[in-house]
Amino acid sequence: MNFAEQTSGDLSLAFKREALVLLPTGSVEQHGPHLPVGTDGLIAERLAVAVAGQMPDRCLVLPTLWYGFSPHHMSFPGTVTVASGTYLGVTGEIAASLYAHGVQHLAFLNGHGGNSAPLKVLAAELARAHGKSPLVVTYWDLVAAEIGDFFEEPDQVCGHACALETSLALHLFPEAVKPELIPGPSGKAGPHMFAGAGAVQGLDFRHFSSNGVIGDPSLATPDLGRRLFELIVERLVAALSRS
Ligand SMILES: [Zn+2]
Repeated sequence: MNFAEQTSGDLSLAFKREALVLLPTGSVEQHGPHLPVGTDGLIAERLAVAVAGQMPDRCLVLPTLWYGFSPHHMSFPGTVTVASGTYLGVTGEIAASLYAHGVQHLAFLNGHGGNSAPLKVLAAELARAHGKSPLVVTYWDLVAAEIGDFFEEPDQVCGHACALETSLALHLFPEAVKPELIPGPSGKAGPHMFAGAGAVQGLDFRHFSSNGVIGDPSLATPDLGRRLFELIVERLVAALSRS
């Protein structure tokens, strides 16, 4: 169910039935020469809608929070970031509003790596203030064990506007992708999605990659995107069913 299309009365009843409220979180930031700046929110929103479709009596999908914490993309035109304090403020106040109405189950379905750290901080702060915590899920974390079935070297080809994101984009919103501009591998020294824990830096992505890409989007296909999307939805339904 689309949260914004419900009445206050409908929502009051849904909250009493212990609805699970999903907030897709994205960012407006450069995604290389070939993907739109809204890629992260577009993917998170489509995942949330698909998850809600599989849990129809349980889920409410809030309007996507398009803006995120993206200072590390600001050297590329089109990036629009908010400061970390602003991001924590907005997400915290969204959660507090819902908690004030008795919502018990809230999940942030995150599509942007830069939001992960603030959302984890937020979850701990909300737990201390309200005695309950939202679930924070950054979608690619759920398929870390299986990503090797899709790409031979996932620790090198998946980072940003990469093999993973470009595959999902080709499946979900191909009309917004510029296939003729898909580059080869870039940004070897930059942060990758499946590289495991290690030392981290907060440098602008321009430092690692002249085109903003980290990974290898040339490996992306719509079919890989479809299979990845189906697996991620399955994993999200399993994770959220336990909340
Ligand atoms: Zn992205």
